[in-house]
Amino acid sequence: MMKTIGIALTILGTALFAGAPARAADWYAPQEPFAVYGNTYYVGTGGISAVLITSPAGHVLIDVGGPLAPDQVVKHIRKLGFKVADIRYILNSHAHTDHAGGIARLQTLSGATVLASPASLNVLSSGRPDKTDPQIANLVPLAPVANIRVLHDGEVVRLGPIAVTAHFTPGHTRGGTSWTWQSRENGRVANMVYADSLYAFSGDGIPFSANPGYPNAKADVEGSIAAVESLDCDVLVSAHPELGGLWERKAKQPALGNAAFIDKDACRGYAARSRARLAQTLADDAAAAEAGKAAR
Ligand SMILES: [Zn+2]
Repeated sequence: MMKTIGIALTILGTALFAGAPARAADWYAPQEPFAVYGNTYYVGTGGISAVLITSPAGHVLIDVGGPLAPDQVVKHIRKLGFKVADIRYILNSHAHTDHAGGIARLQTLSGATVLASPASLNVLSSGRPDKTDPQIANLVPLAPVANIRVLHDGEVVRLGPIAVTAHFTPGHTRGGTSWTWQSRENGRVANMVYADSLYAFSGDGIPFSANPGYPNAKADVEGSIAAVESLDCDVLVSAHPELGGLWERKAKQPALGNAAFIDKDACRGYAARSRARLAQTLADDAAAAEAGKAAR
């Protein structure tokens, strides 16, 4: 029954996305953890991604999910046979509560160091949303994160055989970051991408294209879309799993094994959908500006 409800909510969330922000999806929809490729595992919920990259030297966790997600994520990691205490680094896509709200708790449980871009650091360490965030009207505080090390764009995070590269992808937030690494399975190396949200959204009354607090948001999101589009990308997991097509590929896993997740067009498709979202947001901004002029 619970499973049915979870699936229904996930589908509902996906359907809602056509006209509404992605946070309409159920952040805590139940999801069995699963192998994605080689040493990479999906440990998130049905609504919000979290990925564990494993090695004998310790593990790297990308994203945790919302404030109530840690119980689910911890259960998933243990179910796959890994130890939470072996997580050395926690990375983040962007410092909104649906992706970062559980980081402080996971850090307490694991003792891991959190690595973040300079703009994300400010939000994660204070727990206070960025006042210039296009979505500020809808944002809530996060549990503050204690032990954070700042990264620069292009920095490679190394842990034993793991090497994860940070690609700053601002626009959705100022501190947004996408991550790439390689995983190997049966002698085949796959270029793995954990893509940040690239969708242009703004909160009540703030035009995305003319936000005085973040005037570069449009240029940033365009640059980030182009950056993700041009990545070497065999396996994509996006911060909101359904937006990168994860569930369609997962559906083929019983027949194809983990090769089901290889889709060399995945990042280009994600970029194209993000570009369409930006065009829609800009059209909405223009219509709102016209309506405002007519009202005066
Ligand atoms: Zn967000």
